[in-house]
This record gives sequence, structure tokens and C-alpha cells, in this order.
Amino acid sequence: MRIMQMPDALANKIAAGEVVERPASVVKELVENSIDANSTWVKIDIKEAGLQEIKVTDNGDGMLEEDCETAFLRHATSKIKNETDLFHVRTLGFRGEALASIASVSKLTVQTSTGEHAGTSLSLEGGKLIQKQKSAARKGTEITVSELFYNTPARLKYMKTIHTELGHITDLLNRLALSHPEVRFEVTHNGKGIFKTAGTGDLLQVISQVYGMNVAKQMLPVNHETLDFSITGYIAKPEVTRASRNYMSTIINGRYIKSIALNKAITQGYHTLLPIGRSPIVVLAIQMDPILVDVNVHPTKLEVRFSKDKELFQAIEQTIKDTFRAETLIPEIERKPTPKPKSYQNSFDFTPLNAEPSNKQWNYPAGVREPGVANKSAADLNKDLLKQENVYETTGDEEIEPYSVQRTEMQQMHEQTDTDERTNTNEQTAEQVKTEQAAPRVPIMYPIGQLQGTYILAQNENGLYMIDQHAAQERVKYEFFKRKLGQPMNDLQQLFIPLTFEFSKEEAIWVEAYKETLQAAGLFFEAFGQQTYVVRSHPSWFPAGQEEAIIREMVEQVMKDEKIDVEKIREEAAILMSCKRSIKANHYLNHDEMTQLLEHLRQTTDPFTCPHGRPIIVHFSTYELEKMFKRVM
Ligand code: ADP
Ligand code: MG
Repeated sequence: MRIMQMPDALANKIAAGEVVERPASVVKELVENSIDANSTWVKIDIKEAGLQEIKVTDNGDGMLEEDCETAFLRHATSKIKNETDLFHVRTLGFRGEALASIASVSKLTVQTSTGEHAGTSLSLEGGKLIQKQKSAARKGTEITVSELFYNTPARLKYMKTIHTELGHITDLLNRLALSHPEVRFEVTHNGKGIFKTAGTGDLLQVISQVYGMNVAKQMLPVNHETLDFSITGYIAKPEVTRASRNYMSTIINGRYIKSIALNKAITQGYHTLLPIGRSPIVVLAIQMDPILVDVNVHPTKLEVRFSKDKELFQAIEQTIKDTFRAETLIPEIERKPTPKPKSYQNSFDFTPLNAEPSNKQWNYPAGVREPGVANKSAADLNKDLLKQENVYETTGDEEIEPYSVQRTEMQQMHEQTDTDERTNTNEQTAEQVKTEQAAPRVPIMYPIGQLQGTYILAQNENGLYMIDQHAAQERVKYEFFKRKLGQPMNDLQQLFIPLTFEFSKEEAIWVEAYKETLQAAGLFFEAFGQQTYVVRSHPSWFPAGQEEAIIREMVEQVMKDEKIDVEKIREEAAILMSCKRSIKANHYLNHDEMTQLLEHLRQTTDPFTCPHGRPIIVHFSTYELEKMFKRVM
């Protein structure tokens, strides 16, 4: 058999298979080219979800006549010239294959001008130039892609419904808009405006265009610099969550990327603040030296590789934690009155304490209408986009599980906390004490009484508080157990009766192979027959009754991650124990018990949400109360 180089047309079609998967991929490549060409305005007009036509018009640099022709050749790019450039990519494109690929599977016309000379207009069919003309000298470029996949029927067959394809396009445009708040985007579908951003550079404004005003109002700004990274953006308060992970957007040097690892770092930053199974809404723009990120690992560049990945994940997690910690969660007494409320009930919010917006105001630049109100079609689109989601209102009808602890035990628990704190403090250095005993984040609350055996009513000069007694105690206990489990782990507890484990073949292989890892975590398995092992001691931090479960968990972790994350295991154990032993709803508490519980709650590092992410405190400010009773207007 003879070996030949492929003709370009064939090579392009093959490359198109990778780059141009569906109409959204065409939109992505064209819009990214517009952004790379320094456009400040990009208009995207789509017909039939892009299967009939995709037109992208920009006001960017434009191309000269000969460049325009070259641009459609395979591997033609103006963005990199040599290998060194490849490691310093600052543009979205650089592979020089998009235009050639798109042209090879469609009928395409381009009209472009640098603004100085007459423009150029080309028509291509299946990648072949069929017409060339002079055109107007409007600075910028307009590319129209019609009849996508007309010559690759196999690919066309894979297209889903108009609805699905349009969904992909809008999702993509949302991410592009979030990545480039400085660019004004205008999108129409079948002639109807569906999405628009202002291009003022204000990310929060784009967030409200994409996710709606209500979400934008619940976002906290993030700003963090390390030696290698600058992290800015917005993170939603923990009460506003989604069931899907799709609402976390990470943007590296202006490029939206998909990264499970970055998403994980984000969720870990939220830590126990997120309800189980819920994901946050986050937009993080991360800037770093291009040398630290390899964008050439994926044809559509959706995935990247970081050379300082651990440092980056750590920075993200820490940034998010710090943001919540720094957020002053003590509510303001005065809240700006809502303009012309229909009735006082409407203007009165019943909010969890930490849902309180700080005294931020939502000013939109002159001439820019409030997003959401801006145009009806944008609202329609949002509705469409957010179809599957529902805002998770933690104040809503949460079920409260049955509890099992006796009051005496609760008292014991408090005593224990006290002793524990005291001994700890004695052992700690002054500095440790300073960092650990941060000032309480809630003011002292004086109990008034108990409501339905479930909520503690309390007051102070800031107004009225309602505290879920079970959730409060869960939080207190969780932090207690976490501290307790956080003690040094090298001391071992000898067992009178050794624990016996029978493992599967696979498990046994792992236990043997990772003996050292397990030993480092304080677990010494003694072989006792083929798949049976005994354990005669365990780290003394293991909570009583959970030894076996924790040991199994450690083996499972080794099998999954090839290492043991003791922190995580402690965390899970602490949550489990705090939940198991908390007081019931419908449980009478006397005045002293309430005072004590409130004080313990106040001393926790996170008094606002229980370990499962439910709110603990709801607050009515004095101002709101006065407004309710029309003492103030
Ligand atoms: P890449 O973006 O990887 O360089 P493309 O095939 O997407 O490759 O584009 C090829 C070249 O065409 C680009 O490098 C750029 O010089 C030029 N180009 C494409 N689109 C535009 C545009 N909208 N405005 C100006 N130049 C463009
Ligand atoms: Mg490109």
C-alpha cells in the first residue's frame, strides 16, 4: 500500500470533526476570534439554532485582503509564530484550524476590513474559494456560516433538537460574556433578541444578565492575590444554591475552562456551608502567567493543565473561606427602605441572618437599564436557561429530623466543651489562641422564650432573633467534635479485643500494597489468614463506636485516592456525631439552658449554618419591626 499525504480538503474535514462538533462550536470559534481581534462589540445572529445560519459581526481589527485568504488555510494563524509563543498564549485561539475547519463543512462568506482600505469579501463552499470581491471599509469582520454540515450528512444526523442546540449556544455565550464583561454582546435567534450585555466591564452586571438580578444581589465579591495568581469574581452566598454543578464558572486568563478539580476547590471553600447535594453559583476570573497553564491539551481548549495546580486549588479554597469569614454577618439595623412597597408585608423580608445583604447598593451605570428589566427577551432567555433549576431556599419547608439526646447529656456536653476549651487554651501558645478565638460573629442575644419547643426567641439592641435550637446545637457539637478529633493523632489506643476485618481480594491487595500509608495514619493491619486482618490499636482520636467504620473508610480512601485524607475523615465523623446527639425539636428548654446554648453558639466559628448547611438564626431588625408596625415609614 502506498502512503500519501492527505489533500488539505480532507485533512480539514477530519480536523472539523474535532473542532466543529455542533453549531455551538462554530459560535465559540467565531466569537473567540472576534474577541482576539480586540472587538468591543460582537453581534451574533442565529437562525434555527445555527443549523441554518450563524452570523458573527464584530468591530475588531479586521483583516487585510491577503491575510483574509490565508486565514482559511489549515494551520494559518496570526497569533503564534514559534514554539516559545506556544507557551505564552494570551489569545483564545492559536491553533489556526478553526476557520479552515468551519469552512470545510459549510457555506461561508466573510466580509472584513481594517478600516483603512476597502474591505474584502470572500465566499467559500466546502472550504473552496468560489468568489472574491471588494467590499465596504467598515472596520471589523462579519462571518456568515450557512448550511452547517451540508456536506457531512453523518454529522448532521447527530444534531439534536433545535432546543438542545440552542441551549448549547446560549450556555456557551453566557460563559463567553462572563469571561469578557468588557465586550458588548448582542444575540438574536430567528430575528428575536435573546441576550445582551452592556460591555461596561462590570462582571456583576453580566452575572445579573446571565443568572438574574436576584442571584446577583446575593453574590459576594472576591479579590485575592498570591505570588502566582490573581483571583477575582463573585461567589453566591450559601443560601443560594443549585442542584447542578454547571453554575460554577472558572475563567483562566479570559478563557472559560471546565475543570473538575477547580470546581472541587470551590466546593471545599464553601465547606459545611453548602447543603448536601447542592452546588454554589460562582464566577471566578483567575489571572496567571501563561507559562503556568498549558492550553494545548484539548482541541477546543476547554480543558487546560496547570503547572502549579496544588497552589491554585489551595488559593481558591482559601479565598472563598476568607470571603465568608470576612463578611460581616451581623446585620445592619437599618435597611434601606424598598421604594414604594405595595404593602408593608411585601417590603418585609424574613431572611436567614446571613442572607442579609451588606449595605451594598446596586447601581447601574447611567444609560444602562437594570438587567432583567432591560428587555423582555433577556428575561425570557433566563427563564429558559434556568428552567431546570430552582432557587434553594433554606428558609423553606425544611424537614427537621427526629433527635435522640437527653437534656442531661446536652448539659454534659456543654460542660465538656468548657473543660475542653480550658485545657486546650492552657496548652496553646498565645498566637494559636489569638487565631482560633476570633471575636464572636453574633452579638449577645438574650432569650425571651421558646416557640413551639423548637425555636428560641431572643433579643438585643439590634432586634429580634429566632434560633433553631436543634441546628444551633448541631453546630456547637460539630465544632466541639471537630476540635476534639483534631488532636494529635500519633498516640494510639490499645484495644482489649482486637478488631477483625475480612476483606475482599481486591481490598486485601490494597491493604498490602499501601501498608505504609495506612501505618502513617496509625493503622497496623496484621495478616490473619488470606483475607482476614486484625487491628490491635487505633489512633486515639477515633470516636468511640465508630472505630470499625472509620478503619473501613480509610481503606476505601486508599483504594480510591491512594492516600488517606485524615482531615476529611475527621470532618465526616464530626458531622455524624453532632447530628446523632443533638436535642430534639419539641423539647422544652429553661431560661438557663437557652442562655447557655446561645452563648455556645456565639462562640462557634460559624454560628449561621448547621453542618448540613441549614440556617440557624433568622433576624428581624429593629427597623423592620418598626416598619411593620408603621412606627417609621
Ligand atoms: P486561530 O484563532 O487559532 O489563530 P482561526 O482559524 O480561528 O485560527 O483564525 C485564523 C486567523 O484569522 C486568526 O489568527 C486571525 O488572524 C484571523 N481572524 C479570524 N477571525 C477574525 C476576526 N473576526 N477579526 C480579525 N481577524 C480574524
Ligand atoms: Mg480562532
